[in-house]
Amino acid sequence: MAIDLVLRRDWHARAPHGDYTQLDSTKGVKVHYTGGRVEPGILADHAGCVSLVQSVQGYHMDGNGWIDIGYSFVACPHRKVFEGRGLHHLPAANGAGLNSGHYAVLGLVGNAGLVEPPDGLLNGILDAVEYVRERGKAGKEIKGHRDGYSTDCPGEPLYAWVKRGAPRPGGGGGGPEVPTAPPFPGRLLKYPPVMQGEDVRTWQQQMKVRGWEIEVDGAYGSGSRDVCRRFQRSVSIEDDGIVGPTTWRLSWEAPLP
Ligand SMILES: [Zn+2]
Ligand SMILES: [Zn+2]
Repeated sequence: MAIDLVLRRDWHARAPHGDYTQLDSTKGVKVHYTGGRVEPGILADHAGCVSLVQSVQGYHMDGNGWIDIGYSFVACPHRKVFEGRGLHHLPAANGAGLNSGHYAVLGLVGNAGLVEPPDGLLNGILDAVEYVRERGKAGKEIKGHRDGYSTDCPGEPLYAWVKRGAPRPGGGGGGPEVPTAPPFPGRLLKYPPVMQGEDVRTWQQQMKVRGWEIEVDGAYGSGSRDVCRRFQRSVSIEDDGIVGPTTWRLSWEAPLP
C-alpha cells in the first residue's frame, strides 16, 4: 500500500518562520510520541488527528520558538501520514545535535488516553519510514527518541515495538492485516426516527468501503437500516437492522466475502 500523505496545505499548516536547514541523508528514523494525553476519540474521528497536529505545530512554533513543527512526519491511527518538515529538511524534535542523524516521525499516541498504538498507526509510521528511505536518502535505522537522549519518548508500547524491530502489524511482513473496529460509539444506531451523528457517518463510510451501496450522510434512515439488515444476514447474525456492539465490530472485522 502506498503512503497516504496529508500534505501541509491539506492540514492547513502554518508557513515556517524561517528557512529549513538542508538535510542530504540520514542514518534512518527516530520514532516519537506526543508525551501528553491523546483523546481516544480520534480513533473514530480523523478530524481530531488534524486538530492535534495543528496544535503540536502551534506549541512548537509559539512555545518552543521553533521555525515549524519539529517532526518530519506524523502518523495517525488511520494510517495517514502528515507532512511535517518533510523530506531533506532538518527536524528539531530529536534533541540538539541529534537532528541531522535521523528523520523524526511522531505517532499520535501519548502517555494518557490513547497509549497503545493501533495497527493503523504502526503501519503509518512504517509507510513514512519507507517513504524517507525511498525519497529522502534515509538509512535503515529505526530508533526511539530515547536512544541517545534523556526522555521517556516514545513511551513504552511504541518503544517496545521499535525494539522488536518495528514489524508490520499482523506479521508476515506486509501480508494481509486483521482489521480492528474503532471503539463502539456507545449508543445503538437505529431507525425510526432518523439518527444523526459522526458515529453514523463512520459506520456508513465503513459499509461503503465494504462495497455496500449506501449514502454517507451521517443520517441513519431506512436506507442505512436496510443495508444493516442485509449485512447482518451476510454475517449470520440476527437481522434487526440495529447497529449494536456486535454489528459495529463485525462491520470492520468480519472477513470480506
Ligand atoms: Zn520524542
Ligand atoms: Zn487520523
